[in-house]
Amino acid sequence: MRGGVVVDAVSSLAPSSPARALAREVLIRGPISRGDLATRLGLSVASLTRLSRPLLDAGVLRESEEAGAASIGRPVRPLEVSPDAHRFAGVKLTGDTASAVATNFRADVVGAGERTLPGHAVEDVVGAIVDAVADLGAMDRFSGIGISIGGRVNADSSVLRAPFLGWRDVPLADLVQQRTGLPVVVENDVVALTIAEQWFGAGRGEKDFAVLTVGAGVGYGLVINDVVIAPPDAGLGLVGHFPLEPDGPRCTDGHRGCSSAVLTIPAIRSRFAASTGDQRSYEEVLALAAQGHPVAGAVVESAGAALGLLVSAVANLTMVDLVILSGEGMALADVAAPSLHAAIDAHRDPEASPVRLSRQPTDFAQWARGAAAVAIQRTILGTLR
Ligand SMILES: [Zn+2]
Repeated sequence: MRGGVVVDAVSSLAPSSPARALAREVLIRGPISRGDLATRLGLSVASLTRLSRPLLDAGVLRESEEAGAASIGRPVRPLEVSPDAHRFAGVKLTGDTASAVATNFRADVVGAGERTLPGHAVEDVVGAIVDAVADLGAMDRFSGIGISIGGRVNADSSVLRAPFLGWRDVPLADLVQQRTGLPVVVENDVVALTIAEQWFGAGRGEKDFAVLTVGAGVGYGLVINDVVIAPPDAGLGLVGHFPLEPDGPRCTDGHRGCSSAVLTIPAIRSRFAASTGDQRSYEEVLALAAQGHPVAGAVVESAGAALGLLVSAVANLTMVDLVILSGEGMALADVAAPSLHAAIDAHRDPEASPVRLSRQPTDFAQWARGAAAVAIQRTILGTLR
């Protein structure tokens, strides 16, 4: 099978192999000219040509259809990865579902599906993951599976704690690997999304940036000097209770106006319902606000201001100037744009670099795509087991 040959071409390389570094650079930065690649990797063009030859022969890399910069003689085509050389599966676990995507080598989503969890017993969840991946294609089509979960994950891909499943110390990667025969990696969901942004999204080519997510909870990821900051405590969701609104409602832990109490989808819905007695979906509350509904407008405006305060806190404390906004609830940033930007301006030194905001897609599949991105990254780095 062609996919298998390509996997072997990458996985047979030593983890520190220069060819692996070459594949990584092309994956993240491609299409990229051989000259730029040689400069980035500190190699001569001759060495680069020698290193890239086996990867081109194996179909991992290819010459881009885009012509390179004008040059004398035959056109030099930049290198890029062959996007369809690999298929990866990404699975995002929630308390209710295993949501899965299939991606190509560049983390473009090529298929999606979902399985309901029959229960929270480990074998039920593993079964749902395996079924969700099988729905997307035969197992031997995939080079690896990434799984992301809102919880603490150990470096060995075991789940240390996942409160919404009631789990502690579950060797999830091993269990899924036993059922599928595929390499499996498990990562915290926000860390996985941050990795996806770093390699395939708005963080490409950025040394330092932060990611904020709004959805069922509030998430925060950080990249400093090209490194994703991801200790096990990243899985505790520590920004989920950051104080944002001194007079706001209380969260279930009793904090007044913390990010969980004012900035999540459930918080915004319940704030609207508390004022109107009207149970509306999140999308409906945002749409009402956009139409000028006074209560919805006030709720969304205060959530936007809280988001702006959180953005400026992140930018001021970590000294990054790029904040990527993602998560299934981030349409808030559009509807509440005026209060969001006013709050950022109010809490940012006017002489500081302006905060750059990058809005990412808000469909739920982005979470599963993040999980697939981790499997892609581990394949390239040679650490997917
Ligand atoms: Zn709280």
